[in-house]
Amino acid sequence: MSRRLTQYRGGGYDGCHWEWNFFMEIDGEHHDISGSYYYTVFHDIFSSGSYGISKASDKDKLNGRQYVYDLDNPDEVKDFVTESQPQLVLGVAKYIEENTDVDMKLTCPICEQEWCADEIMLHPHDYKGYGGTAIAHESYLCNECHGINSCAYCCEFYDPEYQESEAKYHEVDSIIDENGYCMNCWDHSPPVPIVPDPRQLALNLS
Ligand SMILES: [Zn+2]
Ligand SMILES: [Zn+2]
Repeated sequence: MSRRLTQYRGGGYDGCHWEWNFFMEIDGEHHDISGSYYYTVFHDIFSSGSYGISKASDKDKLNGRQYVYDLDNPDEVKDFVTESQPQLVLGVAKYIEENTDVDMKLTCPICEQEWCADEIMLHPHDYKGYGGTAIAHESYLCNECHGINSCAYCCEFYDPEYQESEAKYHEVDSIIDENGYCMNCWDHSPPVPIVPDPRQLALNLS
């Protein structure tokens, strides 16, 4: 049995634009009284434009410049995860995780832990616009780091490095307070309850 991911130049709308497209193939075997036969299930993960391949019979459109990754080889999976654009990796990894048992762990650059694609999101600020036509995200992060570094009130995400420099600039310990509210929302932040001194309480009761 073999499971392969193919990354190829799809797209091709008016003119010569192309973009990365992906399909996955899973080989299977079937045995019954009449014998055994082998088959391949084709998964169109993402196909676009006139070079897009949405079914196995369109594979003759491949122009020889595709990359094929063996999904059962952890080194090749790692190559794909580390060498390709984060937004593509994340989309493909989510698809593969949903449809196979292939482990596609992605490393969060903030906490440096490995997570399933399900627990990863694109970095909300870290992207590049290409001539206003497309936006390519440069990185992703785990949901947990996103939650910890987002304001509980306005939901704005603050990159840890940015938080540090802002805190220094405003001479505060942190731009996110004990309630998880960012500086812009401090007016709305509920007062932190003062925990009464138990000895004082005892005195009042007596
Ligand atoms: Zn993280
Ligand atoms: Zn806020």
